[in-house]
Amino acid sequence: MATQNETFKKVISHAKEYGFVFPSSEIYDGLSAVYDYGQNGSTLKNNIKNYWWRAMVQLHENIVGIDAAIFMHPTTWKASGHVDAFNDPLIDNKDSKKRYRADVLIEDYCAKIETKIEKEVAKAAKRFGEDFDKEQFLTTNSRVLGYQQKIEGILKRMGQSLEKEDLADVKNLIEELEIACPESGSRNWTEVKQFNLMFGTKLGASADSAMDLFLRPETAQGIFVNFMNVQKTGRMKIPFGIAQIGKAFRNEIVARQFIFRMREFEQMEMQFFVPPGTQKQWYEQWKQTRLNWHLSLGMGADNYRFHDHEKLAHYADAAADIEFKFPFGFKELEGIHSRTDFDLGSHEEFSGKRLQYFDPERNENYVPYVVETSIGLDRMFLAVFSHALREETLEDGSSRTVLKLPGILAPTQIAVLPLVKKDGLPDLARNIKDKLKWDYAVNYDEKDAVGRRYRRQDALGTPFCITVDHQSLEDQTVTLRDRDTMKQERIPIAGLNSRLDQSLNIKHWLQKI
Ligand code: ATP
Repeated sequence: MATQNETFKKVISHAKEYGFVFPSSEIYDGLSAVYDYGQNGSTLKNNIKNYWWRAMVQLHENIVGIDAAIFMHPTTWKASGHVDAFNDPLIDNKDSKKRYRADVLIEDYCAKIETKIEKEVAKAAKRFGEDFDKEQFLTTNSRVLGYQQKIEGILKRMGQSLEKEDLADVKNLIEELEIACPESGSRNWTEVKQFNLMFGTKLGASADSAMDLFLRPETAQGIFVNFMNVQKTGRMKIPFGIAQIGKAFRNEIVARQFIFRMREFEQMEMQFFVPPGTQKQWYEQWKQTRLNWHLSLGMGADNYRFHDHEKLAHYADAAADIEFKFPFGFKELEGIHSRTDFDLGSHEEFSGKRLQYFDPERNENYVPYVVETSIGLDRMFLAVFSHALREETLEDGSSRTVLKLPGILAPTQIAVLPLVKKDGLPDLARNIKDKLKWDYAVNYDEKDAVGRRYRRQDALGTPFCITVDHQSLEDQTVTLRDRDTMKQERIPIAGLNSRLDQSLNIKHWLQKI
């Protein structure tokens, strides 16, 4: 079994080798925590966006989309609280000179205890065999309960100390837990300090009149400042939502883990405006709807879990993460936040404009409450990509690398391969490609032996290969090869469309949500 680290290294190298993700400006040795998406990565990313947009906007009659600018009036960030409170607690190790997020050091410590729980479960599963009841074991085994209590205690104390801005206690906790620097192994830490994550820039040519701006650290504020515009011009009735996909920028203290934590990244956010007092109910509903969206992609229910927040952001009255099992453990993939009326209320105050809704049913004006769903597109990419990448040992003892991407997300959905480059097979293959390309992302590949081409398409995540051989010329049938099972079936060319539709039509996937 490969270790977590080895698996993750494979993910990164596969992403590069097959044109998914490159380090940014690589010919200049790259730029820390900034990445470019290649020919296959950009398509995979667009497909994820499309799946989100369709599920959120096209399928909800009360959700509309916008595309706001990255630059916003600087007062936006005072009103939102980001100027004062968008900080992460940082700590330096005096020996290695490495900088860490104090909360992440503590969370990583808890993740190690979590691994111990997993080991206990694995041991017990082996001991009890088929009779093993995981749920019961987790709730009754005294060692596991002890570990769980320890994790809960640590996270609770950290949450409370951060909430109270008691940074000295966060440092105490790191010392009490004897957390050492992963680099140097030393426990020689500085004090914990706050660090603002926004990137500053300037607008305007002359030095005197230039205005200080920030690159937006979240897309949400572009939605809030447009609340009235959309509500009025779209004649929207509460409850309704505004969705947006766009870039966000954060000067992350420690940006490791590939595209998990980047300095420039994309978010897919939706703000749902509801009457005051109903936010809890909508919050629960959106938690479930978003989890269902993830589950519809078929990446396994066991790989997701909710994590309810102890420490709430300055704007929230409830918050949970949907965590995914990345190669380095369960980590946040998406956040669901009940943001109260904080943002609209605060923009009202700072702008002096009324940001209220007249509710005909309640016969009153109010500042709506907001439930937000916010998912990182790049993190979703990493979730899909790392889950898909497998090394398989085949029956004949050989191995293959396969990228089991959900069919609707794969950059190439079908590869059409003439068995040989002669006898009219390429013409028929191109002909089939030209018929299918209106509905699917299709590639034509005639280079190398067909077995090698299958392997190449497996590594690119192409769900189906269609092979055209001499028999095809006689009876108008082809071989359809399934990436996951490697099974091949002979089917008529005329039947391809309806057969492929079952697996590759986005409609069938969206209907599962
Ligand atoms: P974290 O605790 O990991 O820093 P967060 O709680 O600050 O994340 P949110 O502000 O809730 O994140 O942002 C919503 C989503 O945006 C996250 O769930 C994540 O998927 C994504 N995201 C946040 N920061 C980054 C980043 N630096 N790189 C890539 N994606 C990010």
